[in-house]
Amino acid sequence: MASLSRALRGVAATCPRRSPAPGRALRPLAAGAGPTSEKSVPYQRTLKEAQDASAAARGPSQPLPSTASVVVIGGGSLGCQTLYHLAKLGVSGAVLLERERLTSGTTWHTAGLLWQLRPSDVEVELLAHTRRVVSRDLEDETGLHTGWIQNGGLFIASSRQRLDEYKRLMSLGKVYGIESHVLSPGETKALYPLMNVEDLYGTLYVPHDGTMDPAGTCTSLARAATARGAQVIENCPVTGIRVRTDDFGVRRVAAVETEFGCIQTPCVVNCAGVWAGAVGRMAGVKVPLVAMHHAYVVTERIEGIQNMPNVRDHDASVYLRLQGDALSVGGYETNPIFWEEVSDKFAFGLFDLDWDVFTQHIEGAINRVPVLEKTGIKSTVCGPESFTPDHKPLMGEAPELRGFFLGCGFNSAGMMLGGGCGQQLASWIVHGRPEKDMHSYDIRRFHHSLTDHSRWIRERSHEAYAKNYSVVFPHDEPLAGRNMRTDPLHEELLARGCVFQERHGWERPGWFHAQGTAPVLPYDYYGAYGHRAREDYAYGRLLRQEHTFRFPPHHDAIKKECLACRGAAAMFNMSYFGKFYLVGPDARKAADWLFSADVSRPPGSTVYTCMLNHRGGTEGDLTVSRLAPGPQASPLAPAFEGDGYYLAVGGAAAQHSWSHISAVLQDRKFRCQLIDSSEDLGLLSVQGPASRAILQEVMEADLSDEAFPFSTHKLVRAAGHLVRAMRLSFVGELGWELHAPGPSCLPVYQALMTAGAKHGLVNAGYRAIDSLSIEKGYRQWHADLRADDSPLEAGLAFTCKLKSSIPFLGREALEKQQAEGLRRRLLGFTVDQKVPMFGLEAIWRNGQVVGHVRRADFGFTINKTLAYGYIRDPSGGPVSLDFVKSGDYALERMGVTYTAQAHLKSPFDPDNKRVKGIY
Ligand SMILES: Cc1cc2nc3c(=O)[nH]c(=O)nc-3n(C[C@H](O)[C@H](O)[C@H](O)COP(=O)(O)OP(=O)(O)OC[C@H]3O[C@@H](n4cnc5c(N)ncnc54)[C@H](O)[C@@H]3O)c2cc1C
Repeated sequence: MASLSRALRGVAATCPRRSPAPGRALRPLAAGAGPTSEKSVPYQRTLKEAQDASAAARGPSQPLPSTASVVVIGGGSLGCQTLYHLAKLGVSGAVLLERERLTSGTTWHTAGLLWQLRPSDVEVELLAHTRRVVSRDLEDETGLHTGWIQNGGLFIASSRQRLDEYKRLMSLGKVYGIESHVLSPGETKALYPLMNVEDLYGTLYVPHDGTMDPAGTCTSLARAATARGAQVIENCPVTGIRVRTDDFGVRRVAAVETEFGCIQTPCVVNCAGVWAGAVGRMAGVKVPLVAMHHAYVVTERIEGIQNMPNVRDHDASVYLRLQGDALSVGGYETNPIFWEEVSDKFAFGLFDLDWDVFTQHIEGAINRVPVLEKTGIKSTVCGPESFTPDHKPLMGEAPELRGFFLGCGFNSAGMMLGGGCGQQLASWIVHGRPEKDMHSYDIRRFHHSLTDHSRWIRERSHEAYAKNYSVVFPHDEPLAGRNMRTDPLHEELLARGCVFQERHGWERPGWFHAQGTAPVLPYDYYGAYGHRAREDYAYGRLLRQEHTFRFPPHHDAIKKECLACRGAAAMFNMSYFGKFYLVGPDARKAADWLFSADVSRPPGSTVYTCMLNHRGGTEGDLTVSRLAPGPQASPLAPAFEGDGYYLAVGGAAAQHSWSHISAVLQDRKFRCQLIDSSEDLGLLSVQGPASRAILQEVMEADLSDEAFPFSTHKLVRAAGHLVRAMRLSFVGELGWELHAPGPSCLPVYQALMTAGAKHGLVNAGYRAIDSLSIEKGYRQWHADLRADDSPLEAGLAFTCKLKSSIPFLGREALEKQQAEGLRRRLLGFTVDQKVPMFGLEAIWRNGQVVGHVRRADFGFTINKTLAYGYIRDPSGGPVSLDFVKSGDYALERMGVTYTAQAHLKSPFDPDNKRVKGIY
């Protein structure tokens, strides 16, 4: 038997050159015996022993059907949960194919922890659903105990900021009825007597957290699913996916091949864990994940540990899971081991633990529960797990192949997220959309140029793994996988002090820094794998300053940009926008169906509109500009017959919008083309009272209200270059966007900056856009406007052609909502006290929590914090205007409530005078 401290000594002796992880010094320990090499999972029962070993050789556990409505590939947590939820939705003839036996991939050796609170409202709901399934539903349905243990969870805060983060989680938990308590060190000691609390600021205790059992969970899921008509076939590896091309040239799933026969099916779900990449390749689908070793060790018995909650010590990057009368100790390292050659022969397998890597956790574990120093290690559990570039799963229909869904890449959270994600995936398959807003998990959140870029996937997945336990700060940015997509102004703006943000692979301006340049440097893996860690460089330094829940030190720099825009003019480079053309004989029919607003105006018009799903949820918002037909192609318009529209959509939503539009065109068989010109065109936007005077000096066009009214566009010359000018605003000012071919961007920009100097024109970035747009009450897709929000709930009824008779996608759902009354409504709030808010704060109305903040920022012109969130009536009735107006509101931030004023109209320029040039 080795003990944790002896293990540490062993490693110290054998690896003398290993440098400690930043911030954690190894104690000088004398050489000692090496650690245990015993590998075994700590579960009483696994499915490895459930059948005899020769079963695989005998072939599939059941005969294969010739057809199936859905084939789920993989019998781990995700496959079983998806099958169960498909069956619950009434899908008959769904089949799960497992290469070996259920759980034999990663699931059998999971630690199985379930924590209910995460800094995302959607994730909190997904986790709550898993908890309901394993703690209640499955037992009710099957009579089997899943092995769920509710021993509670304890998050450790070793710094004030960490405690602030936990308090944010506590406020969000109130919205969803999740009990949690911030405990002092003394209270923590009383709850967990074996814990060292000397160095604690406090803890967050969540009594209804717990632990899942993999075999019990998957057996119950399979039993419940088969009772509802689904089939589970083990010992049946999938060897190929057949694809057909339909009459419109669209690739669709046709069948699944195995050595034992073929199953015809229109729908496949790839739940193959670390093998999902291989299954994707069978279908020509890119699956951006990497496989890594992930581990925990199981201790010998510890007197007094029974019934203790599970512990997450984020600052030490370590967790302590209760394992009967012992603990499992695991965590996230800065140098995880990549599993380079994923073997398809690996079933119920474990790797040898690399103690050099794992030792990083030992000191933190011993520090937190000192008795561990003298406790032996019974066994080690090191298995494969898949990790993705942003530490979020990969879900939804693959853009490359209709009928091929992903349910993989679970980043060591596939047990706790399994139920919620299985439910959403089932809904996605059956109804065409998940019920919740799953954009953060949707494969379409990544640009297609990145999803098979191995360096990008590897770097980003490494950083996301290494930072898994880091505080989630509102304005953090990745350091890995940067500079993948840059626009023609990149170098120029960098030289002018631009501090970039990364979205969708693009580098876009965040804000401008007066003291020198701040380039993003190549990724240093935080010093792992022999890379030299960069200690002090401008971008890293500025980013570190963002690591706060207070106003960052450069708050004033963003303020200057905002006030310049309101008082004179600001130049925004928005080149990362998605820019598409929708053209062809059926383009008008397609536009009528796709867009909630009436875009069939004369050529030259530009319309702000939403795109909806059949539930009336908002799949995107964009501007649609009707084009005059032209036989000649130019960089600013393709040649087309029939009708043509130019679509401009926020860059972070570009792939999502592209895929949504493409799927609708395919499903409705519209004869038109969608052309992506995002990389060919740049987008400059000059906004503010002085914008007209500045632009007039550079553009060969009359910019008067009569000649160039709001919401119109024209091809004009700017500094001698042909551009498409649009009179529009994302910030609530008089202003124009110039959509220019790549080579024209820099000369047009330079001419504008020269002309603007005397008018006070400044460069401004997206941090200013965020503040200015919230001040004006403009929505931001995927923050205060999402796929689970209807435009009526979001106060965007003006974007819906409900008064016309034109049918459009989502119309019926909106009409139903209108008839029944809105069950939720987006409200704006202002807070008089100068307190920063970022979203997730709880909204109180007359002493009851009625919602949470989706988006918040500081508005510099009104000099107040602004917040937007949806509220409900706790009685369950519609949220009437009377209900809204009769309430007294407060916003709870980190456990403290602040009085707030509710606004149905934007508090800034409520009559929209400024966009019309009325100052
Ligand atoms: C050490 C460790 C600790 C963890 N701790 C936690 C935790 O505390 N909480 C938590 O929520 N998560 C945890 N996880 C993560 C969690 O266990 C995984 O995310 C989850 O089990 C993954 O499930 P899955 O269904 O995606 O993959 P898997 O369980 O790997 O299932 C995929 C299945 O697909 C099958 N398959 C592959 N190829 C084919 C093919 N061609 N045909 C048919 N079948 C195929 C495989 O045999 C396998 O059974 C942990 C992971 C590890 C490694």
